[in-house]
Amino acid sequence: MTSRHATVLGGGIGGLTAAAALARHGWSVRLHERQPEIRALGAGIYLWDNGLFALDTIGALTEAADGAHKGPAFEVRAGSGKQLYRIPVNGEGQPRNYALLRDKLITALHKVARDVGVDLVTSSAAVAARPDGTVEFEGGGSESADLVVVADGVHSRVRDSLDLPYRRIRMTQGAARALVPSSPDYLPQADAAKSLEYFHGRRRFLYTPMTSESAYLAFTCDQNDAAMAGGHLDVRAWSRSFPQAARLVEAAAEVPLRWDTFEFIQLAGWSRGKVALLGDAAHAQPPYLGQGGGTAMTNAIALAENVSRRHVSLNEALRSWEASNRPAVEKTQRSSYRMRLLNPLPDRLRDPLLTAIGRSRGFIDSQVRSSHMRPRSSGN
Ligand SMILES: Cc1cc2nc3c(=O)[nH]c(=O)nc-3n(C[C@H](O)[C@H](O)[C@H](O)COP(=O)(O)OP(=O)(O)OC[C@H]3O[C@@H](n4cnc5c(N)ncnc54)[C@H](O)[C@@H]3O)c2cc1C
Repeated sequence: MTSRHATVLGGGIGGLTAAAALARHGWSVRLHERQPEIRALGAGIYLWDNGLFALDTIGALTEAADGAHKGPAFEVRAGSGKQLYRIPVNGEGQPRNYALLRDKLITALHKVARDVGVDLVTSSAAVAARPDGTVEFEGGGSESADLVVVADGVHSRVRDSLDLPYRRIRMTQGAARALVPSSPDYLPQADAAKSLEYFHGRRRFLYTPMTSESAYLAFTCDQNDAAMAGGHLDVRAWSRSFPQAARLVEAAAEVPLRWDTFEFIQLAGWSRGKVALLGDAAHAQPPYLGQGGGTAMTNAIALAENVSRRHVSLNEALRSWEASNRPAVEKTQRSSYRMRLLNPLPDRLRDPLLTAIGRSRGFIDSQVRSSHMRPRSSGN
């Protein structure tokens, strides 16, 4: 049988995973990335079981997770430093949760895609896709494929060309992320290996001890927070909110920060004709659960499995891909979106609330349940 051809739009986490998975299933694949090179934006990323499983499926886990931080626990604390709840991870019977450098993740995905024969074209921006499998590019070129995978991120231009109804919520919060040089002086020794998230007012501060060279920080707040205006960090204001982490806040003032406003996207359908959409282009979510990338990869693996089933038309394969995977993806999205409700609560209410619900198995389970998500195919 001659191999079918797929065009993948976007060389991020979702697009690279889809391209590699399709090529492993025997498709000829060309991936177009708008930027002059395949590269990561952002600093670190948490991957839970589902994302790690996806990486393993395409053969990228060993390289991506080499040197990743595998902490003993994820701890949530009040601004004062008091522990509110704790999720033990990476132990026997516990969920896996690795913190990876984004660069390392994208490099590993890129390498696997190349190794399995994906044709990677950079400086190539798609402007539109048609249900018949035609893609149009900036500058006037076009190409046709048996399957087009749209993974061009939350601001997807290609999605907007498809006349596909969708809901897009631009949230009031966002985060500034940074990598700072590692130092034993930031935190007490007992905390150095933990992932810590502090809450104070409408601000959150995340610390992740990434590698021996760097730590990953995220400052989450309202986009109109004067202490993060224009992506500029007000060190005194953030140190007042998080006195336990003042040294980390000071370190962040010395390095570049990247700001992103959170978004939520839900499409009326995940495909149109020969075109399928995934990742942030199709199901963006705020990162409160650390699942946007994991979900993009899990769904990319599921897509490749479904469209590669023998004796099943593309139309039927795309329909069953969406039917079997959409409920789990949307459940994760909803759980993550719901966590915004913690933001307006005053500390005197939120701190005891988090302590109480952190003690209930159901709450922790609901946070980690999405990490068990597996790509689903409805046949072979
Ligand atoms: C603050 C923050 C923290 C996060 N933390 C986590 C976390 O801990 N764990 C987790 O799993 N997720 C996390 N996420 C979410 C995660 O980063 C995204 O869900 C993930 O990057 C989505 O991957 P994607 O491939 O769909 O899109 P992207 O990563 O945005 O990739 C899209 C790619 O398409 C390219 N492109 C754009 N337009 C075009 C075009 N017209 N033609 C061709 N190429 C194009 C872009 O250049 C880019 O390379 C976080 C997000 C934020 C904002």
